[in-house]
Amino acid sequence: MILFDRVSKTYPGATEASLDRVSLHIKPKEFVIIIGSSGSGKSTLLNLITREIKPTSGKIIVGGVDYDNLADKYIPLLRRRIGTIFQDFKLLPHRTVFENIAFGLEIAGMSNREIRSAVPKVIDLVGLTGQEKAFPHQLSGGERQRVAIARAIVRQPKILLADEPTGNLDPKHSWDIVNLLEKINSYGTTVILTTHNAEIVNKLRRRVITIDHGKIVSDESEGTYR
Ligand code: ADP
Repeated sequence: MILFDRVSKTYPGATEASLDRVSLHIKPKEFVIIIGSSGSGKSTLLNLITREIKPTSGKIIVGGVDYDNLADKYIPLLRRRIGTIFQDFKLLPHRTVFENIAFGLEIAGMSNREIRSAVPKVIDLVGLTGQEKAFPHQLSGGERQRVAIARAIVRQPKILLADEPTGNLDPKHSWDIVNLLEKINSYGTTVILTTHNAEIVNKLRRRVITIDHGKIVSDESEGTYR
């Protein structure tokens, strides 16, 4: 569960709030689309969920954790429960598909045996079996995003944040990625997707939250693109 209670964020030096008294409730296993023009506050909202940034005021509770009571040393633990993917994939260019996915597990201290068990499962889930040894530059954009998704879900997070994941992809690859997000959601992961793609929003018929100038201006259960 993600709960925002009148959350505002004003960046240091800014005169206007980038997020202005946003209240929001996202239930476990929901699939939510967030839309809004560039600069409306979508990334700010996602960065508050991952605790990359702290709110200026208001309360945030994610998965039962009240961020007011969250010491900074527990933030890495929190982030294990939240996977994130981005428009530009953010893969390590000199590491293979397998190594990109394994990297975070190594850092977290997982044994080689556990890694050799976990990584092939997610590679299979995202449809990249056979490409384990490829480097990012040898893959299409859609395949790179699949690697990023595999990396994001390998620790079985409760929440997957997808920040404009189809922004660099053609329509076919965009739909492949959206279908994959729906599959991951059907396995029980909460998915929050930001997008500018009207066709995706209109075809998915999911909950759509529209942000404008840091405020939620609509929240519809089977929403369309405005
Ligand atoms: P979106 O993701 O919808 O494009 P953002 O959340 O990135 O919107 O930005 C919302 C507003 O906050 C914009 O006016 C942007 O310029 C401002 N902003 C975002 N990040 C920062 C930052 N680190 N410092 C100052 N202003 C920021």
